[in-house]
Amino acid sequence: MEVTLLGTGDTTGTPTPDCSCDTCEAARERGVKRSRFSVHVHNERTDESLLVDASPDLRHQFLANDVPLPDEVLISHIHFDHLDGLGNAYRLVSDVPVHAADETDPETGESVVGTVDRRYDYLDAVTPVPRTPFEPFEACGLELTLVPVDHPPLVCYGLAIEDPETGAKLSLSGDTNYGVPEDSREALRDPDLLLADGIVPEHLCEYHPLGGNHEVDGEFMTFGTKHMTFEGARRLGRDLDADETRVVHVSHFVPAEEAFVEPLAVDGERYVL
Ligand SMILES: [Zn+2]
Ligand SMILES: [Zn+2]
Ligand SMILES: [Zn+2]
Repeated sequence: MEVTLLGTGDTTGTPTPDCSCDTCEAARERGVKRSRFSVHVHNERTDESLLVDASPDLRHQFLANDVPLPDEVLISHIHFDHLDGLGNAYRLVSDVPVHAADETDPETGESVVGTVDRRYDYLDAVTPVPRTPFEPFEACGLELTLVPVDHPPLVCYGLAIEDPETGAKLSLSGDTNYGVPEDSREALRDPDLLLADGIVPEHLCEYHPLGGNHEVDGEFMTFGTKHMTFEGARRLGRDLDADETRVVHVSHFVPAEEAFVEPLAVDGERYVL
């Protein structure tokens, strides 16, 4: 399993357009980027590619990285930065299954797959496939399991990807706070690589109108309500016994001296599991 981190940033990305903060300036100087979230998973046994989330930066991500276009897609939730790149499917790919959860979201009155269906009904290339959380299914020769996480007010799903031949395992937290339910943690447990949502360091919680949540050992694991802090992401990695954890969905609000240190990911990182 070859994993390429196409997009490792939050919804405005780093650098953020027209932003001259120290972090965005440092990113420009270093020539690094954190575009909107997306991960490319290539199964070298079948030579098939799965795209996890369709970033609005999809076109640039595929120009910047030497990876094949996807044979199948999975959507974690309906926020702009994870879904709206699906329009790029037009004339780029044909008849691509787009896997997404089938549970109705009380907030929207439809499931993630229902929103994909409604929004992209006009595109023949997009074929929504309803998937039930906790029920493993096959995509690109890999076994995928969607699990609910906690990203209020919308439903959102983490994902376990296992190669049934080699036993390699990639887990993704999805956009989530630290309150990932125990049964979801069980499905994500013991990955070779965990991609964990972490938006800022916990000392920035004082600037969030709702502060921090999920305090452990005097530190907030959650920034506001929607995302983990870096501390929360790292702790989730330890909770799940991940061999390696990369923190993704990182914001430009991170102070520059903390923005490019381990284990924070940048675009283009590649892992072979
Ligand atoms: Zn900035
Ligand atoms: Zn989100
Ligand atoms: Zn997001």
